Amino acid sequence: RSIAALDRDLVGCRACPRLVAWREQVGREKRRAFADQEYWARPVPGFGPSDAAVVIIGLAPAAHGGNRTGRMFTGDQSGDVLFAALHAAGLANQATSVSADDGLLLYGTRVTAPVHCAPPQNKPTPQERDECAHWLHSELELLAPTMRSVVALGAFGWRQTLHTFGTLGWSVPRPRPAFGHGAHTVLTRGDRSIGVFGCYHVSQHNTFTGRLTPTMVVDVLSAAARYADL
Ligand code: SF4
Repeated sequence: RSIAALDRDLVGCRACPRLVAWREQVGREKRRAFADQEYWARPVPGFGPSDAAVVIIGLAPAAHGGNRTGRMFTGDQSGDVLFAALHAAGLANQATSVSADDGLLLYGTRVTAPVHCAPPQNKPTPQERDECAHWLHSELELLAPTMRSVVALGAFGWRQTLHTFGTLGWSVPRPRPAFGHGAHTVLTRGDRSIGVFGCYHVSQHNTFTGRLTPTMVVDVLSAAARYADL
């Protein structure tokens, strides 16, 4: 199966009743600023080339961001920070990401998430997390031939990244490396290795409080790009 076929299948997934109901309710009720827009209101696939060398793994789409536009991190303040940093690190052709047809291209980089539907309060349940895990599992296996580094955004992304690579037969150091901004570990499988980099999540909670600055994001992305020879 190709990444494109995986993405097509994903978009039809209705495995989590609570998240299906929530993504569709948000799409009906809308935020006033977007009242004239048709919300995507379906699972949001990963975004970026199928031969990516750098993979960025977040948490889940935002209700009025990815769940509205149909593209990961697109149309919300988290995405504003992430795509500006990707552009600054030379991994995107533009610094903004407002809609699925805005001309944005990522260079050798794919952005995805362990949970593909927007959850209430950005908090999937453990059951929803586990139900969605096979999508990331398949996506990472399809990307494995070209993937050289991963940036995990936040503790949830870090944990799911290490867990997923473990189930794919990559050797993960024991004890599991702890998450932190700037955390780094290397996973191996046969003669292959992948560098994993931790970055605080680009959520408003972190960026508005100054816990995470734009420069901190650019620095981690640049380190991951260097590791991947981009
Ligand atoms: Fe399917 Fe994942 Fe959405 Fe659950 S969160 S409905 S498993 S795409």
